[in-house]
Amino acid sequence: MKKMIRTVNLSDSGYLRECTDFIEGSLRSLKTPSKMVMRSVLLSEEMIVALADRCEENAELDICVNKRMGDIRVDITAPGEEIDTDALSSFSMDDGSGSDMDADDREMERKLRSLIIKSQGEKLKNTYKNGYNKISIAVGKAERSSLVLTITALVLGLIAGLILTNLVPETVTEGICTYALQPVKTMFMNALKIIVGPVVFFSLVTCFSQFKNLSELGRIFAKVMGLYMLTTVLASLIALGFSTIFQPGVWGAGLGMATTQAVNVNTNTDTSLLSTIVGIIPDNFVKPFLEANTLQLIFLALICGLAVGALGEYSAKLSNLFQALNELFLTITTMIAKFIPLAAFCSVVLMVVKVGGEAVVSLLGMFGVFLICIASMLTVYGILLILIGRLNPLTFYRKIREGMLTSFALSSSSATVPTNMMICTERLGISPKLVSFSIPLGATVNMDGTCVSLIVSGLFLARMYGISVTGPELASMVVTVVLLSLGCPGVPGAGLVCLGIVLQNIGVPIEAIGLVMAIDPIRDMFGTMNNVTGDMAVTAVVGKTEGMMDMDIYKNAG
Ligand code: ASP
Repeated sequence: MKKMIRTVNLSDSGYLRECTDFIEGSLRSLKTPSKMVMRSVLLSEEMIVALADRCEENAELDICVNKRMGDIRVDITAPGEEIDTDALSSFSMDDGSGSDMDADDREMERKLRSLIIKSQGEKLKNTYKNGYNKISIAVGKAERSSLVLTITALVLGLIAGLILTNLVPETVTEGICTYALQPVKTMFMNALKIIVGPVVFFSLVTCFSQFKNLSELGRIFAKVMGLYMLTTVLASLIALGFSTIFQPGVWGAGLGMATTQAVNVNTNTDTSLLSTIVGIIPDNFVKPFLEANTLQLIFLALICGLAVGALGEYSAKLSNLFQALNELFLTITTMIAKFIPLAAFCSVVLMVVKVGGEAVVSLLGMFGVFLICIASMLTVYGILLILIGRLNPLTFYRKIREGMLTSFALSSSSATVPTNMMICTERLGISPKLVSFSIPLGATVNMDGTCVSLIVSGLFLARMYGISVTGPELASMVVTVVLLSLGCPGVPGAGLVCLGIVLQNIGVPIEAIGLVMAIDPIRDMFGTMNNVTGDMAVTAVVGKTEGMMDMDIYKNAG
C-alpha cells in the first residue's frame, strides 16, 4: 500500500493550483494512465472549489492519494457544512437568457462544473462526520486485487481438491461436489451465457454502424482472419515438430489401458467446416441468442448494423438505443465478473476431484510435450506483437493475465467473450470497433491451443497403437486439424469430440480416446487459455497496425 498526504491552507492564494499539482504528481508517480489522471484532477478541482466555498477562510484541507491492492483513490477532507454531491451535479438546461453578462458567465461556469461532477458522479463518494466532509474519488479500478483473488482461488481450489480426493470420505466429497461446487459453477456459467448473446450482438451492431464503408470493414476483417489462420498453422507446425522430437507414446504408459477404458464421447457436436459456413446464417432471429452462437450473432449484427445506417430519421435514435443497450450489458458483465474467483475455485476443485492425481502422472510425457507447445505458442504471440505490432509483449501479458486465468478456470472461449472484450478495450486500449467483432470471431474460429492438443494427442495415441503416421497422412491430419479448429465450438470438452474425428482420419481406433480422456479437463484448461490468448494477441496486433489502439492505456493501466 502506498500513501501520499498533503495539507493545504485555503487562505493561500495559489491553494487550488497547489492541490491539483500535488494530486496530479502523486497519481503520475503511481503510474496512473494519463486519461484517468486528467479526469481525476478535473473532478478533484471541482470538489475542492465546492469544499472551499463551505469553509472558513483560513481552514485547512487534507489530501490523501493512496493505492491499495491496485485500487487508487484520492481522499479530500475539509471542515464546513455538508456537501450534497447530488445537488452539485444537478443542473437545468435553461438558456440562461438574462441581461447581466457576469451572471450569465457565472451560471455557465456553474453548469460546466456540475456537468463534470455529473459525468464522473459514480466515482465520487462523500461522508460527513464531526463537521468534516470527506470526498473520496475512485481513480482506478481494483484490477490487480481481482487478479490476486483469482490466483488465490485457483491455488486454494487445487489444495481443496487434493484434500477432498485424498483425505475426505468419497461420499462426503461427492456430496460437496454435487450440492455445493457444481451448482455454484453452473450458476456462474449460466450467468455468463445470459450475457454472451446480448454483449456480442449489441456491441457488434454499435461497431458495424460506425464503419463508414464496407471496404474498411472488409479490409480489417481480412487482416484479423488472415492472422488467425497464420497462428493456427504455426500452432499445428509447432505441435508436429515437438511431437516428432520427443516422440511421446513410444515410451511410458502401457497400451493395455486403452482397451479397458470406457469411452463416452458425445459425437453429436457438428465440427465440420461446411456446416460451420452454412450455419453462419440462422434460420430464425432468436435462436442465435438462445444458443449463444457467435458466428450467427455476428451475421445478425452485421445486417442490423448496416440497416441501422440506412434508416434515415430513425438511424440516430436506433443507434443511440443500441449504444445504451451495449453499455447496459457491459455493466452487467462487470458485475458478473466480480464472481470469477468463486467460480474459478469451484472449477478447479471439481477438476481435481474428477481427474485424480494418478491419471495425470501416467500421461505426464504427452502432457509435458503439450505444455511445451503451449509455451512456444505464447512465445510466438510475443514475437508477432513485437515484429508486426511493435508492441511490448510483457505489457500485453501483464494486462491480459486475468483473462488468461479466467479462461483457464472456465475452459470455454465462448463464455469468456464478454470479459475478454472488456480486457481488450479497457486494459489494452483497443477500439471497441475492432474488439467487438474480432474477439467473438476468434472464440469460434481461432483455436490454436485446441490444434496443439489434437496433434499431440493424435500422434501420441497413434504411437501407443503402433500406427505410423507419415507423409501424406500427416499432411492430411494437419489440414483436418486446421479445419476442425475453425468449426470447433468454444465450449468445454469440444476438443475431445474433435479428437475422435482426427483419430478416424489417421486410422486409430476411437476407443483410444479413453487413454487421454482422464486428463482432458486439464488439457482443456491450458488449451482454452492458449485459444483466448491468441484471439487477444491478434486483436492487439491488428489494433496497433490499424491505428485503433490507445497507446496511453496500453502502456500505463493496471
Ligand atoms: N474448451 C475449448 C475452448 O472453449 C475448446 C476445446 O475443447 O479445446 O476454447
